[in-house]
Amino acid sequence: MRQTFLLGTFQAEGRDLVLGGDGRADSPGHCAKFGSHTMLELHANVVIDIQLVQSNECGGSYHMEKTGMERFLAHLERQGLAVGTMVTDRHRQIAKWLRETYPHIEHLYDIWHVAKGFSKKLLAASNERECQVLRPWIKSVSNHMYWCAVSTPSGEGAQIVAKWESVVSHVQNVHTGHGDLFQSCIHGRLEGRESHKKWLEPSSKAAVKLETLVCNKTLCKDILKLSGGSQTSAVEGFHSLLIQFAPKMYVFSYTGMLCRILIAALHFNENANRVQGVTKTGEAMYSIKYPKGRKGAAVLRRVLKSPTYVGAGVCLCVCVCVCVSLSLPDSLQVQPLPQVLPITNQDLHKGPEEGCSGPLPFSSGCMCTAWSLCLCVRPSLMCVLLIVRRCSPVYLV
Ligand SMILES: [Zn+2]
Repeated sequence: MRQTFLLGTFQAEGRDLVLGGDGRADSPGHCAKFGSHTMLELHANVVIDIQLVQSNECGGSYHMEKTGMERFLAHLERQGLAVGTMVTDRHRQIAKWLRETYPHIEHLYDIWHVAKGFSKKLLAASNERECQVLRPWIKSVSNHMYWCAVSTPSGEGAQIVAKWESVVSHVQNVHTGHGDLFQSCIHGRLEGRESHKKWLEPSSKAAVKLETLVCNKTLCKDILKLSGGSQTSAVEGFHSLLIQFAPKMYVFSYTGMLCRILIAALHFNENANRVQGVTKTGEAMYSIKYPKGRKGAAVLRRVLKSPTYVGAGVCLCVCVCVCVSLSLPDSLQVQPLPQVLPITNQDLHKGPEEGCSGPLPFSSGCMCTAWSLCLCVRPSLMCVLLIVRRCSPVYLV
């Protein structure tokens, strides 16, 4: 029901959606059994769909992400919603499939994913002999990639590449004559600490190595498609939250995993757009964090207001009530699912539990879903729930 409401809102707005998506495997490594594909509307910052795919229904774990996206885009088409932009990581299979199947969708790459891959290569190069001078430049070159994408208007991919390749000259203390599209650096005269950087010697091994990495054809093609606006950091944030609901170190059934990701989505949407907290005197609150990814470097972050748990709490309360045969409040009565979302036979997926529909939108759930939800609350209820599980297929609203 919540998903129906969100999609209805986008239909009323009549704009093209800006989506960010990524896949998540249920276990570490490369042979996961389940894969969930999450899709966020980046302007609204809400999860609008999650598809849970089992590896044996799509020919292996590598194909789970593409299968999830296929189902999602087919669902959007039936709802009459148009996708304007899709921001993802550099999943080659998805890029090719989107290019061939949905050529009208502008497919862009998230900067963080590209910069992370490049930094790793530069770090490896800096460990080679005579290339140690590259190490102080790793952070700067990574930041330069962000600047190239963000400072360039949408659709000017060639200019992003021209800016990017100018870094080869910049690190050699050459700031003019970069090329036609981007002729010279725009940072002005370097002073103080900036002017005393350890510039690379032209034609040195380190300089040649850097140029080889920066001008790599595959990388430049990726940089051509960098997103200068919306990024997929919210998707990564959702996956961090999902770890709390479905840790990768535990094994869950299909239904159990489905329930957990749906509750996580409800909780995320409820709290995704929290405002910043203020002190008693009305000043905005900040805190200093030392995230693992920054390797000890300090980061200033806004302190948001405390999260709420209404959506997840209601789900769990409903399940507990159902399982212990308590009467539900009127607002939470068990009702048939409204037939607002036409689901074709092709979409219906028979999960491991009889009667459970896998890729249904996360607004719906059957009684076996409720049964599994209760496992989150109190495993001792399991014997009672085994009876509930075989009840008639009614739906929770
Ligand atoms: Zn420069």
